[in-house]
Amino acid sequence: MEITVGSHVWVEDQELAWVDGVVTSVNGNEAEVETINGNQVTTKLSKLYPKDMEAPDTGVDDMTKLSYLHEPAVLHNLATRYGIKEIYTYCGNILIAINPFQAISHLYDTELMDSYKGAQLGDRSPHVFAITDVAYRAMNNEGKSNSILVSGESGAGKTETTKMVMRYLAYLGGHAAAEARTVERKVLESNPVLEAFGNAKTVRNNNSSRFGKFVEIQFDACGQISGAAIRTYLLEKSRVCQISEPERNYHCFYLLCAAPPKSCQEIEKYKLGDPKSFHYLNQSSCYELVGVDDSHDYLATKKAMDIVGISVEEQDAIFRIVAAILHLGNIAFALEGEDSSVLEDDKAKFHLQVTAELLMCDLEALETALCKRNMVTPEEVIKRSLDPLGAAISRDGLAKTIYARLFDWLVKKINVSIGQDPDSKCLIGVLDIYGFESFKTSSFEQFCINFTNEKLQQHFNQKPGGIISLLDETCMFPKSTHETFAQKLYQTFKDHKRFVKPKLARTEFTIVHYAGEVQYQCDQFLDKNKDYIVPEHQELLSTSKCSFIASLFPSLNAETPKSGKFSSIGSRFKLQLQQLMDILNSTEPHYIRCIKPNSDLRPEIFENVSVLQQLRSGGVLEAIRVKCEGYPTNRIFSEFLERFSILVPEVLKENVEENVACKSIMEKVGLSNYQIGKTKIFLRAGQMAELDGRKAKLL
Ligand code: ADP
Ligand code: MG
Repeated sequence: MEITVGSHVWVEDQELAWVDGVVTSVNGNEAEVETINGNQVTTKLSKLYPKDMEAPDTGVDDMTKLSYLHEPAVLHNLATRYGIKEIYTYCGNILIAINPFQAISHLYDTELMDSYKGAQLGDRSPHVFAITDVAYRAMNNEGKSNSILVSGESGAGKTETTKMVMRYLAYLGGHAAAEARTVERKVLESNPVLEAFGNAKTVRNNNSSRFGKFVEIQFDACGQISGAAIRTYLLEKSRVCQISEPERNYHCFYLLCAAPPKSCQEIEKYKLGDPKSFHYLNQSSCYELVGVDDSHDYLATKKAMDIVGISVEEQDAIFRIVAAILHLGNIAFALEGEDSSVLEDDKAKFHLQVTAELLMCDLEALETALCKRNMVTPEEVIKRSLDPLGAAISRDGLAKTIYARLFDWLVKKINVSIGQDPDSKCLIGVLDIYGFESFKTSSFEQFCINFTNEKLQQHFNQKPGGIISLLDETCMFPKSTHETFAQKLYQTFKDHKRFVKPKLARTEFTIVHYAGEVQYQCDQFLDKNKDYIVPEHQELLSTSKCSFIASLFPSLNAETPKSGKFSSIGSRFKLQLQQLMDILNSTEPHYIRCIKPNSDLRPEIFENVSVLQQLRSGGVLEAIRVKCEGYPTNRIFSEFLERFSILVPEVLKENVEENVACKSIMEKVGLSNYQIGKTKIFLRAGQMAELDGRKAKLL
């Protein structure tokens, strides 16, 4: 479309990403624009985008209905809808969901579920239920498995969205008879259990899932839920021992400290009380969450545990472990002699004693396991002392291992309790996994997360494979350091077009991901890749008098890898990911892209720049670009005629068929390369704007 003086356009803006304005002068290939916020901007004509002056005030519910499909129009449409609490918008078959950060009334009511049941995708306003309904129907009609992939950055609303998908599936595939409803109830109640142990408050989200999750819901031939499997990925173990302001540790610790007064015996039993007195919690001064009652949630979690089939005895052992970890963290060490450590004071001794009681293991053996290491020489085994720092690292390692095993146990238990349906032919998989991440310091976790996203975006073919293998090799070689790892990377991938060694870098590397470049710090890659349990810890806990705890640390036999021997987190994750891909590849995928509208987690604030960034990294703009290569815009003949017959007024008088009239208009304007369908006209990107431009000249 020709941009002339008076044209309404979008122009780039530092703060707002795009701002609209009116062209006040054109000079060669440059234009001057007066923006609505009162600025005069001079810019290249080619950098201006026409603004659709006829766009409806309430936006359009599908981006493909936009008359002008370009970045500023997409952004403006989302902002407009968000302003009237329409948080869902389609982009073709992708559902975009913008976190409202407030409850929107009736958005998830049962009546609403009723209304989506069996409805075609475009018939009702965009919704998670609509996408889920399509997946469910496709499964029933075609006998093929489907999956719903929910992505987005932390706090964007993935987990809440996933829960709505699961609720709607339980509604569609639920059983009529109350006694048959246990499967779907267990599936739904697995969420609060996993959240209590796997979620925490972070800067980005007050209820941030610190693990990835894939739920596979199995259906029988009648389309009823007959089983389910939950797989989790990469729980963040470091959080158990290390938190920083204004974050929290995992919810379960606070829940237990707040166990309601009714159960005084619990305070007595676990010797907990004030969370401020525990090192693993008091590294941050945040203890309470706005709008969350930990003591209420404690009971709710126990109730959910009942439903998913965790027995009272098991619950007791679980919370005993949670309490033990807190006490363990308070065992402080002091220097003795030159390089040995002893318990710091009476307080440390008290916590050692409580920890041993709760873990039901020998007190002295616990102390030795924390402060000393066995050195195996060909002749004998020597006990070597650890210095206080070494002892603290040993203690934290133990806490992390216990917690991780507890979490794995919960997942396994829930799966056994829900049960798998071996006869199920069809499943619907729901994936809730962290989106692309790039921080000031991006480490091993970000590498794994971004690696996953590459795979999910099917872009993985072009990416340096073998970084994880190289890492494993380095880890197995005792003298390796992060520097030698970095050197190996530089050598191996020096000619790879997606691998960059930053100038002057010694331990950093950059990968050009589909969603942007990320610079990784190698420092902790080796440590974080090692899944290592100290043999002394293993021995201590495998002999616990609590059978639950002992079972988390099964004695070693030939089949399990030898404790103390390196096993690679990266490789295990890669394998898990491959299995996930295999499942996903056998399903028909549906995509939900969650967007976080602002970083204050507040309602009604829509930050353009950040939203745009998320649309980019989530592949939405890419999808739009692909769409633009085809016929991104279409209109029903009558709508098209209503809008443009003014260009060729004769066509209305001629009493011809609508499609012929549409063709005449296009011919008159000199546009070709469009398509006429049965009821609609399909236009190339920009053609709508061109028509509008012509119309504007007439008026
Ligand atoms: P993510 O899993 O992407 O990190 P969550 O699903 O945990 O994000 O959402 C973060 C928070 O945003 C939730 O705790 C909730 O307060 C709010 N939220 C998310 N989705 C919705 C929604 N659909 N309606 C209301 N609030 C929501
Ligand atoms: Mg989450």
